[in-house]
Amino acid sequence: MILHLDMDAFFASVEQLDNPELKGKPVIVGKSSGRGVVTTASYEARKYGVHSAMPIFEAKKKCPQGIIVPGRMERYKEISAEIISLLGDFSPLVEQVSIDEAYLDISGCRKIFGGPEKIGADIKKKIKATVKLSCSVGIAPVKFLAKIASDMKKPDGLTIITSDHMPEFIDKLDIRKVSGVGKSMTRQLEILGIRSLGDIKKYSETALANRLGKYGHRLIAFSKGIDDSPVTPFNQAKSISAENTLSMDTLDKEELKVYLLRHAERVGRQLRRHKLRAGTIMLKIKTAEFKLFTRSMTIKEPTQSTEIIYRKAVTLLKNFRVDKKIRLIGVGVSSFLLETGPVQMELFEENREQASNWEKVDRAVDGISEKYGKHAVKRASIYDE
Ligand SMILES: [Mg+2]
Repeated sequence: MILHLDMDAFFASVEQLDNPELKGKPVIVGKSSGRGVVTTASYEARKYGVHSAMPIFEAKKKCPQGIIVPGRMERYKEISAEIISLLGDFSPLVEQVSIDEAYLDISGCRKIFGGPEKIGADIKKKIKATVKLSCSVGIAPVKFLAKIASDMKKPDGLTIITSDHMPEFIDKLDIRKVSGVGKSMTRQLEILGIRSLGDIKKYSETALANRLGKYGHRLIAFSKGIDDSPVTPFNQAKSISAENTLSMDTLDKEELKVYLLRHAERVGRQLRRHKLRAGTIMLKIKTAEFKLFTRSMTIKEPTQSTEIIYRKAVTLLKNFRVDKKIRLIGVGVSSFLLETGPVQMELFEENREQASNWEKVDRAVDGISEKYGKHAVKRASIYDE
């Protein structure tokens, strides 16, 4: 099963989140000068017919009381990264398609997280709790339908198309909803009397392919519920990270360490699930002035242990001079080795034993989390050097 997630009116919702005065009001994100266009309109603004890609002057006419705010890409990216990193907890196969959209292959997750309904609801809950924003989720046996499903009950929707319902759904599906069917294609299809995706089946494949070219083949496959495009995680092989924006900027390293542990846990769990070890540990810090710093270190023995990642991140933090308040903190790992690959043993016997003990702890924690949920175990660690 494939899950498609789409944040609701993302940029406008972030503006409303950061500035409560904008809540419930028609917010239009875009450049108000010159020939600016609407990037995102809040649902309140959409009621007046304002939509993205509309020229700002037209939006102003349709919705004179609309509050126009310039976009803050930096901030949107920050929240987007947080969302993507939490999706990694649900499936190792996460494909981010835009700043506010991602696909997850959840086929292998049933055992751990339950059926599609449960996973969809849990992801929505987790996002709401973490970034305080709503999203819409669609789940279907194939990618193109998952995307259509996520759009069906916006905002805050959850739509599931099971394989049993798929044929009926396809038969009724408005062909204009299918990705790649633009205006001129719609016209061509209308001439053939094709209005729903199911109508495609009225024609022979060769006739359609002749008429519509390459895309004809695609529509034929879609009409049978076939979409071979897999969920392709990119970057995944390069780095894994977790980060969060603090609810309040801080200078307090002890407080920051609590976040480091949480992130190390997430990153470590993902490494173990992917059967990878990382040779580089990275600390990411953003100050209240939006200045970004990264510090990294290479470790002699690649690891997948939460504790070791945490300790290294703490060391990096200790060496970082915190003189400006911090608004975001993250932990990342890279330089991967496959779990089965040769691991250089450069530690003293004693330390090696300790490292392998930590791995036993990790395995135990992972086991309990898989069975009873991630919050069943909390590490008490907060280790001190
Ligand atoms: Mg969206």
